[in-house]
Amino acid sequence: LRLANDLNENEILAWLCEENPENLDKLWQYADKVRKEYVGDDVFLRGLIEISNMCSRNCAYCGIRAGNSKTNRYKMQVDEIIKSAHDAKRFGYGTVVLQSGEDRSTNAFEIAEIVRQIKHETGLAVTLSLGERPFEDYKLWKEAGADRYLLRFETSDPDLFKLIHPSFGSTVSDRFRNLKDLKKLGFEVGSGVMVGIPGQSYETLAHDIWLFGNMELEMVGIGPYISHPETPLGNGEVVLSIPENQVSNSELMTYKAIALTRITCPDINIPATTALATLNKNTGRELGLERGANVVMPNVTPSKYRVLYELYPDKACLNETADECNLCLSARIKSIGRTIGVGSGTSRAMKNRG
Ligand code: SAH
Repeated sequence: LRLANDLNENEILAWLCEENPENLDKLWQYADKVRKEYVGDDVFLRGLIEISNMCSRNCAYCGIRAGNSKTNRYKMQVDEIIKSAHDAKRFGYGTVVLQSGEDRSTNAFEIAEIVRQIKHETGLAVTLSLGERPFEDYKLWKEAGADRYLLRFETSDPDLFKLIHPSFGSTVSDRFRNLKDLKKLGFEVGSGVMVGIPGQSYETLAHDIWLFGNMELEMVGIGPYISHPETPLGNGEVVLSIPENQVSNSELMTYKAIALTRITCPDINIPATTALATLNKNTGRELGLERGANVVMPNVTPSKYRVLYELYPDKACLNETADECNLCLSARIKSIGRTIGVGSGTSRAMKNRG
């Protein structure tokens, strides 16, 4: 099997199927080499603020879906969000990420005001991850100073997407459309998928990874799918036809997807995700960083809310404070001989596109 930045879809597929440990070692080494050459040894830290778990959608995989009546819902107060942003700044993070369920009752102006205040008071880069919204809302947020937007397309298989991600009222979800809108508005744009979602075949995942390069994304987040018992996918209410070549939601498969993404999109930012760390709490983050990733997102959400932002069970870092996450992640990065990035950590991809 060949290793080069121009891997085609069939080669990506062949690598996803590879199980020989010696060959996989070559894959890890090559991904690490590409990472070092294109984005260097710096690991950039993003302070993650989970601003609300309110959600209008009913994604079959997600623990905070509207239909989960067992979740206590919260929405952080504006001053709490601002305080968390100041915490991120104090820890030396260059970016805050505001993430929430897709809460259609939240007025776009509310978010714009929060973005404006964070930019004004901290000067940090602001990333939003608030789901699908009309073009006008994205525009308003860009004008308010938001720098980046994360919206995973979750799977490139349109039939599977419809099954796991039901439409909102009469609006048909089209995350590829949303991603185009975001790019047009000048956001630095991130997407990504879950590895091993039921119904995902090796061919589909290979196509997902091929698309990352083709779509000219600046960031790609990849984590394993983790079943949540209070969701239709987790409790068996939704039964998907499982292809013969179903991708496993394993730690190993996640590393393969991360490594191949680094190889095919050399200059983008790739996080070692919390979902990956959930599968291997001891060394998942480190191995992610050594197999292609160059970003980590320490959680700065206040503890009382953090436990309620349960996308999937037993999430890593659930019972830690923001201070503890900061110390722990900094130590992990240094332990593998990497440095902590200074500044906002705009991707090389974004800079290269000018
Ligand atoms: N409401 C926003 C943010 C969603 S949470 C949006 O829809 O874009 C961020 C990501 O968590 C999702 O995009 C999804 O890929 C991931 N996620 C959700 N449920 C998950 C699960 N059960 N296992 C693993 N990842 C999950």
